[in-house]
Amino acid sequence: MAALLEQLRQVLGDGGVLVGDDAIDAGRSPWTRTGAPKAVLRPRSTEQVSQILAAANAAGVPVTPWGGLTGLVDGARADGALALSLSRMNAVEAIDTVSGTMRVQAGCVLQTACEAAEAQGLLLPLDLGARGSATIGGNISTNAGGNRVLRWGMMREMVLGLEAVLADGTVVSALNPLMKNNTGYDLKQLFIGSEGTLGVVTRAVLRLRPKPVSDNVALLAVDTFEALPQVLNRLRQAIGAQLSAFEVMWADFYELVTTPPANGRPPLPHGHPYYVLVEAMGADPEADAEPFERVLGEALEAGEIADAAIARSVGERNAIWALRDDVGQTGRNAPILAFDVSLNIADMEAYVAEVRAALAARWPETSSLVVFGHLGDGNLHVIAGVGDRSPEARHAVEETVYGPLRRIGGSISAEHGIGLQKREFLSWTRSPAELGLMRTLKRALDPNNILNPGKILEDAGAAGA
Ligand code: ZN
Repeated sequence: MAALLEQLRQVLGDGGVLVGDDAIDAGRSPWTRTGAPKAVLRPRSTEQVSQILAAANAAGVPVTPWGGLTGLVDGARADGALALSLSRMNAVEAIDTVSGTMRVQAGCVLQTACEAAEAQGLLLPLDLGARGSATIGGNISTNAGGNRVLRWGMMREMVLGLEAVLADGTVVSALNPLMKNNTGYDLKQLFIGSEGTLGVVTRAVLRLRPKPVSDNVALLAVDTFEALPQVLNRLRQAIGAQLSAFEVMWADFYELVTTPPANGRPPLPHGHPYYVLVEAMGADPEADAEPFERVLGEALEAGEIADAAIARSVGERNAIWALRDDVGQTGRNAPILAFDVSLNIADMEAYVAEVRAALAARWPETSSLVVFGHLGDGNLHVIAGVGDRSPEARHAVEETVYGPLRRIGGSISAEHGIGLQKREFLSWTRSPAELGLMRTLKRALDPNNILNPGKILEDAGAAGA
């Protein structure tokens, strides 16, 4: 290891190789457990990333890529590995306002990229709570989702091309800026959502959209679960593609984020089982409010919604979004376990009831279940508290949350990924043939198993086996 680090110091120069306390400091994050890496490497170019991987591959030393360290599944945990931080490769390289594309380096913070697009009158539509820390490379490696997937899709839909470095140091430059390009295998997909196990993303070309200039937001109170998809469909029919968010908060979540010590106050009174943040973005600030308010009025008349608070100012709009973003309040039920699941909307009500009943039966005094999420995408965030930090309790809760998904064909991760935390349950959600193909790809691209080893797949199997 000492010889390898000395070799890398020659490549990366001063400040490019952090060890000891400096390495520990570089790995501090309120969200992510980063473990104890042997060193933190900070390249400034794709060429340097290539040299790092070639050297590590030759030495058989594992490398774990680091983005903004906001992941929630231990995907950046780097015990005994070299942590490869992309933080110094953070430039927005170019914006093409005619084609609506942006070329950006992997370490660029999401919010920085969004602001650069906005300055040109364009929109990079990825939006999530960790926007001020998460990086584009991390967003790509985890196929990030967030609040506006309903309209613009996940990160995968925004990547036109990318550049990645393979385990042996080969640079695969596929910085395609074209909207349409059917020329064989779509190689970028290998690196999107594969959590740094097949290659290290270094740069990307992202698709931008015209920046909407109207933004209408309302908070709705809904009294039955069946009414939620009715309201969603009514909005879709009336305002079509303008609908950019349909975020549902179960009552427990809404009460947490609207009572002290939370800063938020309730725009609508407590007492309803569901609250929905709806947002519509369009091109005409004068005209867009009218159909938005009309459809909400119709939903009220039809009895689908019980109450509504329409934001009348930027301040009111931000205050409603701040409620949905204040997920930290769920920590008031600590210790908690956070889940991120996908299932059909039609299955959701029974699913939540089943999980709640199972937790209450096993931990009658201490269980809590807080639910919120991107209902329009079939994605719920489920925060379970059982008052017990033991590994056995954790495992029992995981089985309780994931068990019904196996039966109804849901997914154990809608947007956070697998990392180390969900690895044990991957086979509950993917078939043996799918897992076999994942292992084949891993062995082909990383025969020495140096790229973020152990993440997603516990054992990729030996090369050629
Ligand atoms: Zn989410």
